[in-house]
Amino acid sequence: MKIKSFISKAVLSLLLLPAVAFSMSPADKYPESLLYSQPVKVAERVWSAIGATQYYSYENAGHNNNLSFVIGDEAVLVVNGGSSYLLAKALHSEITKITDLPVRYVVNENGQSHAILGNGYWKALGAKIIAHEEALEEIDELGLDGLDNLKSILKERAEGTALVEIDQTFGDEMKIDLGGLEVRLIRFGPAHSPGDISVFVPDANVLIAGDMAFQQRLLPIFPDTDTLEWLQTWNDHFTPFAKDKIIIPGHGEATDFSTVDRWTRGYLSYLRGKVAVLLEEGGSLEDAYSIDQSPYAHLETFDQLAAKNAGRVFEAMEFE
Ligand SMILES: [Zn+2]
Repeated sequence: MKIKSFISKAVLSLLLLPAVAFSMSPADKYPESLLYSQPVKVAERVWSAIGATQYYSYENAGHNNNLSFVIGDEAVLVVNGGSSYLLAKALHSEITKITDLPVRYVVNENGQSHAILGNGYWKALGAKIIAHEEALEEIDELGLDGLDNLKSILKERAEGTALVEIDQTFGDEMKIDLGGLEVRLIRFGPAHSPGDISVFVPDANVLIAGDMAFQQRLLPIFPDTDTLEWLQTWNDHFTPFAKDKIIIPGHGEATDFSTVDRWTRGYLSYLRGKVAVLLEEGGSLEDAYSIDQSPYAHLETFDQLAAKNAGRVFEAMEFE
C-alpha cells in the first residue's frame, strides 16, 4: 500500500513538472544503462536498442539513433558503432545478457558520428568494422569535427572515444555469414548522407534500413543531401525491396514499410511540392523558411529542422 501511494505521488509530481522539461530532455527509458532504451527483440535473432529521437545530449549519452544486432549460430553482427566508446560498451553488456557469441562484425549505416565514433570499442574486441566506400570520404572530412563536437556534449561520457580506421568497405552489396544465418549489406543508392546502407536479415524478414528511413522524428536535410536522388532511390530501389519487410529505421521504433514511407518519402515529396509552387510564384528563400509544414509539426526535432530543411530544398531546387 505504502509503495503504491509513493508511486502515485511520484507520478503526480512528474505530471506537475513544466511541459518544457519533457520536450527539452525526455526521461531516459533505461536509467541503469548509458543506453536510452533497452534492446527489444524485433524478430527472431534481431534486436534493436531504439535511440532517443532528439539531438545529441549529455542526457541521452549520444544514443539518438538505433543500435541493432543480429545473432547467428557462431557470431554476432552489430549495426552502428554508436556515438562513443562507453555507449558501445553499454550495448555490448546487453548483448552478453542474451548470447555468449562474439561480436565479429560492426556495420556503420553511414559516416555520421553516431554510426562510427563507438567503433574503437568494438575493434578492440576483435570485431571487423565495415562501411560503404562513400562513408569513408565523410569520415575523413568530418570525423574529427564530429568527435570534438560529441566530446563537448558528452563530457566524461565520451571517455575512451577515438576515431579508428574502417577495416573493410564495399560498393553495392556484401554478404556475411554469421553461421547458419546470412546477412546482406545493401547499398540502395544515394539518400540522406554519404554511404547510407541497409542491412537485411532474410530469415527474419527484417530490413535494418539505416538513415534511408525515418519515423517519429523529422528527417534532417543536410547541405549535401540531394532530396531528388533520395526520392529516386526510394521509389526505384528501396520500395520494391522493402515493402513487405519489417523495418528498423535509422530513427524511431521498428515498424512497417507504409509508416516509414509516409514520414520519409511523404515528407520529402510534400516539401518539394511546396517549394516547387513557391519557385513558380517567384518566391524567395525567406518565403521558403515559412512554408507551412504543419502536417509534420508533431514530429520530434521539427522546431530545429523544418525551416532549415525548407531552405535547403529551395536552394537545391533553384538549380534542378
Ligand atoms: Zn542518423
